[in-house]
Amino acid sequence: MNILVIGSGGREHALVWKIAQSPLVEKLYCAPGNPGTAQLAENVNIAVDDLPALLAFAKGKEIGLTVVGPELPLSLGLVDLFEENGLKVFGARKNAALIEASKAFSKDLMHKYQVPTAAYGVFTEVDKAIAFIDQTGIPIVIKADGLAAGKGVIIAQNREEAVAAVTDMLSGNAFGSAGSRVVVEEFLKGEEASFLAFTDGKNIIPLASAQDHKAVFDGDQGPNTGGMGAYSPAPVVTPAIHEKAMAEVMRRTVDGLAAEGRTYKGVLYAGLMIDGESVKTLEFNARFGDPECQPLLMRMKSDIVPVLLAVADGDLSGVEIEWHDKAAVCVVMAAGGYPGDYKKGDRISGLGEAAQVEDLVVFHAGTKSDQGGILTNGGRVLGVTALGTTVPEAIERAYQGVAKISWPEVHYRKDIGAKAVNR
Ligand code: AMP
Repeated sequence: MNILVIGSGGREHALVWKIAQSPLVEKLYCAPGNPGTAQLAENVNIAVDDLPALLAFAKGKEIGLTVVGPELPLSLGLVDLFEENGLKVFGARKNAALIEASKAFSKDLMHKYQVPTAAYGVFTEVDKAIAFIDQTGIPIVIKADGLAAGKGVIIAQNREEAVAAVTDMLSGNAFGSAGSRVVVEEFLKGEEASFLAFTDGKNIIPLASAQDHKAVFDGDQGPNTGGMGAYSPAPVVTPAIHEKAMAEVMRRTVDGLAAEGRTYKGVLYAGLMIDGESVKTLEFNARFGDPECQPLLMRMKSDIVPVLLAVADGDLSGVEIEWHDKAAVCVVMAAGGYPGDYKKGDRISGLGEAAQVEDLVVFHAGTKSDQGGILTNGGRVLGVTALGTTVPEAIERAYQGVAKISWPEVHYRKDIGAKAVNR
């Protein structure tokens, strides 16, 4: 069948890479894609939020399955539109994707269905938010309600910072309308993990465990980014924690959404905070995490296409997923200055040499082609991802690949995976 992947990041390159291995694929397209996806699929120059153009393309090319990578088209209702037109599509419908698009909705849902999460309040007025801050104490976490590309969360270490954050967000100065409501919540300590599962709204099949690295500098220092690297499996997700996350987080959320008339089909991602035996939910995403998707898909042994089709058809019963008994590590190579201002258009060298490293794939994120070469074209540029028998071996291999690649002012963390090794 013909398959269309929507998106242009490292996550979508990984999806294209995995889908391309399936014998079920006749022709693979990626809209808009990047120079990495272009090696395996035909890139189509349509933006992820141009729903009418994507629909016309899918109809015209007789696409048998569309796979949506990023949150924006989900929150705009791409899945609903495709389904209304009789097209098969993998992703959450608009009313279910709200679990990511609105943090207030997500917290209220967790509260209603007893999904463990931090104590919180939702506010539209500065005075009331400040009263809650004073009552809860610091550190405290302030979150813009709407989509803010992973940057709408402030962890305030003193009252002044907390008051400034709610005032800024509610005045519309920070994050525009995404900040017109704020969630203020209790600060949780512990170690984070990403817990992803495929679901058809009833059956839940967890993916392998993973952990990402959000802060820009080694030792989790500096501002948060979209993600500087990830590894799988994550030893913090012990069998006991896994059981708890499935029963108390995934099951309650999937059933709660169904009870609300918002049946969730797709991949559901819970950001967890784990502290000893305690598991609390920080947030939900309605899609694969980027970069967690890259190591997860490298570890996936089963053909992914039948799984995606089963989700799209709304029946995952009987589906099983096999995983390689190996670890995978993804190191993100970013442009200097990211997540602040950064330069684009630097020529990347060493991609060919890195590709020679065994069990390693260089996933493209922010790149563009230029006269046979590849230039930087975004903050997160590449995701160098490697398999190994153990996490240390995967780390060593990933950094072997990283060492071969360069451009002026490249920046990457040197400690991806170290947390798994130091446990
Ligand atoms: P979110 O987008 O809600 O996952 O928040 C982004 C990041 O902020 C998380 O990955 C955590 O590192 C941090 N964070 C969010 N909420 C909390 C919380 N209640 N306590 C501690 N850290 C948090």
